Amino acid sequence: MSSATSSPPIILTGDRTTGPLHLGHYVGSLRNRVALQATHEQYVLLADAQALTDNADDPGKVRRNVLEVALDYLAVGIDPNATAICVQSALPTLAELTLLYLNFVSVARLERNPTIKDEIQMRGFGRDIPAGFLCYPAAQAADITAFRATLVPVGEDQVPIIEQTNELVRRLNRQAGCELLPEAKALVSKTGRLPGVDGKGKMSKSQGNAILLSTSNPQIEAAVQRMYTDPNHLRASDPGQVEGNVVFTYLDAFDPDADAVAELKAHYRRGGLGDMVLKRRLTAILQETVAPIRERRAELSRDPDFVMDVLRSGTAKASETTKRTKEAVIEGLGLFRL
Ligand code: ATP
Ligand code: MG
Repeated sequence: MSSATSSPPIILTGDRTTGPLHLGHYVGSLRNRVALQATHEQYVLLADAQALTDNADDPGKVRRNVLEVALDYLAVGIDPNATAICVQSALPTLAELTLLYLNFVSVARLERNPTIKDEIQMRGFGRDIPAGFLCYPAAQAADITAFRATLVPVGEDQVPIIEQTNELVRRLNRQAGCELLPEAKALVSKTGRLPGVDGKGKMSKSQGNAILLSTSNPQIEAAVQRMYTDPNHLRASDPGQVEGNVVFTYLDAFDPDADAVAELKAHYRRGGLGDMVLKRRLTAILQETVAPIRERRAELSRDPDFVMDVLRSGTAKASETTKRTKEAVIEGLGLFRL
């Protein structure tokens, strides 16, 4: 089962199919995926089974967004010839591995996961948390290990999930008495957590605070106009605060000219730089970033057969890979085989 030493490192990432993707995904993970696909074996998972863990009352939303997220992938430049784009629910092996792994993690440990804690609070579950939601770190461990991925490009919020994956890997390897599965490293980009346009929590599909990759130019302008700057910066001549200023956070993430941003920060701190100047600059940069993606997306959406073919072939490739891993896990743990 050992892979040739010359084979490229394997990447697995994915997104819940809870809505079209936004600028947080773009800077948090999509940009890395596009850059790495030439030098890595990459799988990207449309995580519809995971999306259901907090959307059981709306399976239609989860289904519809499989194609929406696939369109986003293709529109940002994920190349189906270099990356296998696959559908989680069409890979039963992932569910089988999840079921196995759940025996190697305690409920208490799942409850202690900081991301799960945050998300329970954000979604207001209290004690009524769906069991599938509580267990999704085990499912994500199954996803990552099924592909033998060693690199996972993710936003900051997912780091505790990768840590838990590695704990599970070590536990399974101990049980098997060999290096059955590899540990994985989270690859967090420079902007691991883009705030929402309201500046409160992270930009998130479920929180209504996102600029989507399909957002029109006027909508981008309106979203930037609503962004918080420094509430005490009343006149352009006043000295302003850069820390916690959402417009500067976005300029840091999207403005290709870091020196110009550093100068703007200094000017803002000194006083004499109005919010409108900053907002106009940010609007133009975001519009330039989104426009080609939005246009390519609109083109692709007119060819759903092509998108379906991409998903079928990516899922077929993923099916082979994940089945091989499952066989190895069953053998490694010494379970019964017919
Ligand atoms: P949901 O609200 O349904 O959970 P989401 O917007 O959080 O959706 P996910 O599908 O959960 O998106 O996340 C997919 C990937 O994108 C993960 O790696 C996550 O860390 C990253 N990501 C999501 N939001 C952001 C953000 N605001 N900044 C940086 N990365 C992000
Ligand atoms: Mg999320």
